[in-house]
Amino acid sequence: MKTFEKNIRKAEPYVPGEQPWQKVIKLNTNENPYPPAPGVEKALKSMDADRLRLYPDPTAGELVKALADFYHVDENQVFVGVGSDDVLSMCFLTFFNSEKPILFPDITYSFYKVWAQLYRIPYECCPVDENFCIKKEDYFKENGGIIFPNPNAPTGLYMELGDVEEIIARNQDVIVIVDEAYIDFAGKSALELIDKYENLIVVQTFSKARSMAGMRIGYAISNPLLIKYLNDAKYSFNSYTMNQAAIVCGIEAVKDKEYFEEGIRKIIRTREWAKEELKKRGFLCLDSKANFIFAAHPGYDVQKIYEALKRKGIYVRYWGSERIEQYVRITVGTEDEMDTLFDFLDRYLAAAKD
Ligand SMILES: *Cc1c(COP(=O)(O)O)cnc(C)c1O
Repeated sequence: MKTFEKNIRKAEPYVPGEQPWQKVIKLNTNENPYPPAPGVEKALKSMDADRLRLYPDPTAGELVKALADFYHVDENQVFVGVGSDDVLSMCFLTFFNSEKPILFPDITYSFYKVWAQLYRIPYECCPVDENFCIKKEDYFKENGGIIFPNPNAPTGLYMELGDVEEIIARNQDVIVIVDEAYIDFAGKSALELIDKYENLIVVQTFSKARSMAGMRIGYAISNPLLIKYLNDAKYSFNSYTMNQAAIVCGIEAVKDKEYFEEGIRKIIRTREWAKEELKKRGFLCLDSKANFIFAAHPGYDVQKIYEALKRKGIYVRYWGSERIEQYVRITVGTEDEMDTLFDFLDRYLAAAKD
């Protein structure tokens, strides 16, 4: 090792799901199979390129206002960023500065560990139980902060709001971040607890239910004090995080509530049908409340199924890591895409048996 390397910050980066350039059936990174609201395309087409000479509004004020209106909160309760990954990493930097370890589940969004390591935040992973449920009691001990997704990823399991509240209530000396990337497909959001608990931050994204992963928009909602701390950290880093196109398109997406709700209904319908179809084929599926299904098959090697699917141009996500070696995560696509998946599985399972 070169001497200067000793002083270089080493990071073990997050490994994102593949983004193949070929046309494939893409069920591996939880994108929405339907397009964004029609207003988004219109806004893109009517965008004035000359506007790009200028810096965007550093506060992304109009997007913040659109979100504040949608969620019935004040504008000073909303923080926006370049995808919720940006928002979450800013939260780690801003709120997790204790000597005590932050807590998150062992089976969860793998970015948490990456940020903790990058920012040198001590952390402790709390094992989910044998049914992959988060054990709330694990979060009742001393800690430097807490983060978990609800629904959790990659399991899709939703924790009832009462249990989420108990974790928040018993940790009022630290910040609790609830990562609600998939909440729109699930149940009650922790947003309704924002006024009750000063230590709560809820983070959501446009990437899943709003079909805009490519535009990179995420946001946090909390009380004005914590949002101010986030903004102060952000402006110490880079003032112009949201580009002009993202601001304009984001506003259009938020405005179309009807399209948003109809899209969610479609995904939920397909998800529940797909769970049944997988079970008919012998898969064990967790009861996902997200836009993906975490499944294992007792009779087959799931890694082989994953590889065979990939050869056929059907991409799902497989990690092969501890405790989840026998699971794949399948994003809920259109009904047609899921039919193609099931047709292939029928042929594969029959052939692999012989
Ligand atoms: C997808 C996802 C995110 C990040 O989404 P962005 O595209 O960065 O907004 C955050 N948390 C979880 C749990 C996710 O699954």
